[in-house]
Amino acid sequence: MNMARDDVRVRFAPSPTGYLHVGGLRTALFNFLFARKTGGTFILRIEDTDQKRSVTGAVEKLMSTLRTIGIKDDEGPDVGGPCGPYIQSERKDIYRRHVDRLLDAGVAYHCFCTEERLERLREAQRRKKLPTMYDGACRDLPADEVRRRLEAGEPSVIRLRFPREGRTVFDDVVRRKVAVDNELVDDQVLIKTDGFPTYHLANVVDDHLMGVTHVIRGEEWLSSVPKHIYLYRAFGWELPVFVHLPLLLNPDRSKLSKRQGDVAVERYLERGYLPEALLNFIALLGWHPADDRELFSLEELCREFSLDRINKAGAVFDVDKLNWMNGWYIRNLDLETVADRTRPYFEAAGIDVSDRETFVKVVAVARDYVSCLEEMVDRGRMFYEDICFSDEQRELVREEVSRSIYTRWIGEMEAKPAWTREDTENFIKQSMKELGLKGKNFYFPLRLALFGNTHGPDIPSLIDILGPRETVSRFRRALEQV
Ligand code: GLU
Repeated sequence: MNMARDDVRVRFAPSPTGYLHVGGLRTALFNFLFARKTGGTFILRIEDTDQKRSVTGAVEKLMSTLRTIGIKDDEGPDVGGPCGPYIQSERKDIYRRHVDRLLDAGVAYHCFCTEERLERLREAQRRKKLPTMYDGACRDLPADEVRRRLEAGEPSVIRLRFPREGRTVFDDVVRRKVAVDNELVDDQVLIKTDGFPTYHLANVVDDHLMGVTHVIRGEEWLSSVPKHIYLYRAFGWELPVFVHLPLLLNPDRSKLSKRQGDVAVERYLERGYLPEALLNFIALLGWHPADDRELFSLEELCREFSLDRINKAGAVFDVDKLNWMNGWYIRNLDLETVADRTRPYFEAAGIDVSDRETFVKVVAVARDYVSCLEEMVDRGRMFYEDICFSDEQRELVREEVSRSIYTRWIGEMEAKPAWTREDTENFIKQSMKELGLKGKNFYFPLRLALFGNTHGPDIPSLIDILGPRETVSRFRRALEQV
């Protein structure tokens, strides 16, 4: 299908590994934002030609993660489109046809080297501290020998006959001019023994057939560009614009890996990182706005995003900043929405939160203290469960002053059944004066009896959530501590 070249078409082309890496989410987001900004098309393409690495259920999981996060594809396996199928394992014939063109043109060749030979070769190269590359043993086999070995059914792969001299020079929006010496580029395998294409062939063929105008992806692919360009030229195709996003780094500036900390987007979602916060945080990994603003909704990002503000330098994945940002969203999003999203965490902990009015009040106080929704449970469970005092807390509860506070409050609250927030406020002042107490001497025992902690929400909010009956019974339980 022929696409008009002036309409922006971009793609996110993940390999389904079973989880979405935060770096993958960044690539998806930048492509999505660029498509939205330019009125272009955002394509989702599943690159699953590495059968050894394919994981069952991974494609569905990936699409559901993207949906949860709010990145919607305009064309892809779930929504279809004019350039399908959008799953590479369903396009095997297309790659086969294309590689035949390369073989005919002498741009590709059959290679019969066994895995054992290649391993010995790499081992020898490693020993000599040379780059591990194919030595070209099958590059110039006579045509009749190739035919004979193929007919005999000898296993083979198809490799790209990459030029050994000269340099490949190309433009990248982020890195500007890039030059690579051709002798450093391997004779890439294009079709493997199992008949499946490698990433390089499938990626180039699909980007062309799907009319992709801008290839926006991680910097780790920059070194593959010479091979891709060689393929584009061999096919006689126009090059896309290349945009390689800076590496993601750990705070110690090493490359963000699987091992150091969490990199699975699903893990963040499970713990109650909000899609709004994740997208905002990820957008700033390697891109900066025109001013020094940090908080952006997805809509605002779609308006503000531009390729020329992508940085060259690696971007540090700073979890502390993500925690701050997520906390900000938890405190600033609509309270009812936050309550809806928090509810499953309480239910999973076996806490009955069916009294919506109370639950919303609990969420309103708990959200001041957390950086993700999962933490809300420990900030709110004391409203639903009996308080267990530690030995140290019990000592404070049992002190004479504490007991006099509790007795005084029980007397007052029981005498006035329709207790209001205003009553609480007035009686705080009154009882402080009566008992001759100030500051923490007054507040700590009170909060401890009601909340199980000397620090926490203000007393009027606590009593408002608990209600006068539960408040009185908590004071009574405190008096029973012996
Ligand atoms: N399938 C590749 C990946 O998993 C895509 C790279 C590209 O966008 O070209 O990252």
